[in-house]
Amino acid sequence: MVDLKGQYDRIKTEIDHAIQACLNEAKFINGPQVRTFQSQLGSYLGVKHVVTCANGTDALQIALMALELKPGDEVIVPCFTYAATAEVIALLQLKPVMVDVNPGDFNISADAIRQAITPATKAVIPVHLFGQCADMESILEIARQHKLFVVEDAAQAIGATYRFSDGTLHHAGTMGDIGCTSFFPSKNLGAYGDGGALYTNNPALAAKAGMIANHGQSKKYVHELVGINSRLDTLQAAILSVKLAHLDAYISARREVAAFYDEGLAGIPWLHIPQRATQSTHVFHQYTLRLSDEINREAFSAYLQELGIPTMIYYPLPLHEQQAYRTAAQGASGFPVTEQLCREVLSLPVHTEMETEQLQHIVRTIRAYTA
Ligand SMILES: *Cc1c(COP(=O)(O)O)cnc(C)c1O
Repeated sequence: MVDLKGQYDRIKTEIDHAIQACLNEAKFINGPQVRTFQSQLGSYLGVKHVVTCANGTDALQIALMALELKPGDEVIVPCFTYAATAEVIALLQLKPVMVDVNPGDFNISADAIRQAITPATKAVIPVHLFGQCADMESILEIARQHKLFVVEDAAQAIGATYRFSDGTLHHAGTMGDIGCTSFFPSKNLGAYGDGGALYTNNPALAAKAGMIANHGQSKKYVHELVGINSRLDTLQAAILSVKLAHLDAYISARREVAAFYDEGLAGIPWLHIPQRATQSTHVFHQYTLRLSDEINREAFSAYLQELGIPTMIYYPLPLHEQQAYRTAAQGASGFPVTEQLCREVLSLPVHTEMETEQLQHIVRTIRAYTA
């Protein structure tokens, strides 16, 4: 599904140089490379403040802590997502309120958000799933009407842009109160270990998030807030600086893979190629098919596996059916789209190192399948 070694080999000289510089300086925590990366990422995204932290899950937790949500406050999340989104809500003793998604772009449904709002609702976390932005114009409007915070989970969508009806373009993660991302190695901007970041245009929130990520310290040994220990280490920051300069090329490579699949798989009656959101670009963290009812997904993926083609199911089990979150979902009115997607989706390999022959093999093998 990924080829991180192949990707490293192509930028080895730059990476090795950056790592060696860190080793020579030996400032392993909060070295100068961390600040440099924060400011480079801020310029790339067009956002005023970037606060790095240890991983994407922590970024979400720090965001909710910085917004000073209180136990019992309700936070709306899509139930077709990675569990981290709901996990941090539950950890902070807030209430995750799961809602259904759109069948087309797989992202949180604005109508479902509207229906889930109660007097206890304080925030909504749209997840920009698989690499394209949720319906941010509607979500921000709902949030404005109901005075909700918006925390974007942009872990899969770094580099995607969203167009508002006034024509302005904004990067994923820079439209709500706080955006969160992950530098997990297989994400579109991946470190060589764990990493994450929050973005915001609000200086007070940025200062608070920075303090929370570092034990609530305003300066050394002065603890203003109860915080956590969540830092991006210097080595990862140095590596990410090198890779950020290649991010646009990486996104183009992923789009070329997607275009190849789109064309090669067009017209197959038993599968749907991924639908594009109208206002968002797609950075193809995943290229996710939907298979028709008559196709047995397990048999199909076993056939592909046998011919050397890995596939993955993101996500096989919806949030509301996970043991950890079942109770939180009780009383909700059902999630038919999410349940259908969990039965139908299958993600094909998409990464920056795919070769034409590999793609041709994948397309030919899929087209030759007879159930
Ligand atoms: C990867 C991911 C996270 C968590 O990021 P980590 O760095 O692994 O903690 C959160 N949300 C989504 C949607 C993700 O894909």
